[in-house]
Amino acid sequence: MKKSLSEQAVEYLEYLKEQGLTHVPASKKIRPKPTSVAAASKPQAPHRQASTPSPVEAASALPASSVPSAPPAGGVDTLESLKAEIAQCHACPLWETRLHTVPGQGILHPDIMFIGEGPGQNEDEQGLAFVGKAGQLLTKMIQAMGYAREDVFIANIVKCRPPGNRVPSPDEMAGCMPYLKRQIAIIQPKLIVCLGATAVRGLVQEQTSISRVRGSWREFEGIPVMLTFHPAYLLRDPRKKVEAWADLKAVLARLGKTPPTMPAKP
Ligand code: SF4
Repeated sequence: MKKSLSEQAVEYLEYLKEQGLTHVPASKKIRPKPTSVAAASKPQAPHRQASTPSPVEAASALPASSVPSAPPAGGVDTLESLKAEIAQCHACPLWETRLHTVPGQGILHPDIMFIGEGPGQNEDEQGLAFVGKAGQLLTKMIQAMGYAREDVFIANIVKCRPPGNRVPSPDEMAGCMPYLKRQIAIIQPKLIVCLGATAVRGLVQEQTSISRVRGSWREFEGIPVMLTFHPAYLLRDPRKKVEAWADLKAVLARLGKTPPTMPAKP
């Protein structure tokens, strides 16, 4: 027999209690409507408004810490299966306002994997990482190094857009990190470039300003990690491009490569 809405609501609240929740907020969250033509014409990602979810939906509304850190038993992790998993993720509050999840894009076993902060408006609308103005600058930086975007992998610390492009919270970053770890394990880049302070915080767990640590190396699960500025910061302060270029040249040197003789200015 089909359960009434109130029975489903009681079941859902009991489920949340089991998950450790002691209260639920009373206010409704209203998802802002996309204003751009592109956003309006794009197919919308599955989105749950403030209506009461069914217990079946509740089963996927797990707390952030429950994002699986490995593929399901017996399963093989691939970029495609991970992408499908991320598309269904409700593990942190960022799912509520996203249009699309943005897992990142690129090739397996690249020389370089770039990791930024999180999707912005353009990325949220298109479901692709680094496609706005900062993304265009990143493309120039990659080309200046002698690569094309298709030669590398580009991803972010969080896979859903923080509302208003705010910095993702520590909980949101921690909640999404298992996905990034699994991506890195699948992609196996020779080297990682962390773009900006949030990427540094998320990946190498250092609470510091990027100006202090840029140009220095860290390691993530045996992979060398270069810390440098986020392209959005370089757009705001173009004088820092000189330092960013020095960092990228250090990356090339570590890969045993030299930059093209007449690099396009990033
Ligand atoms: S940001 Fe990450 S953890 Fe949060 S809902 Fe999106 S995919 Fe899930």
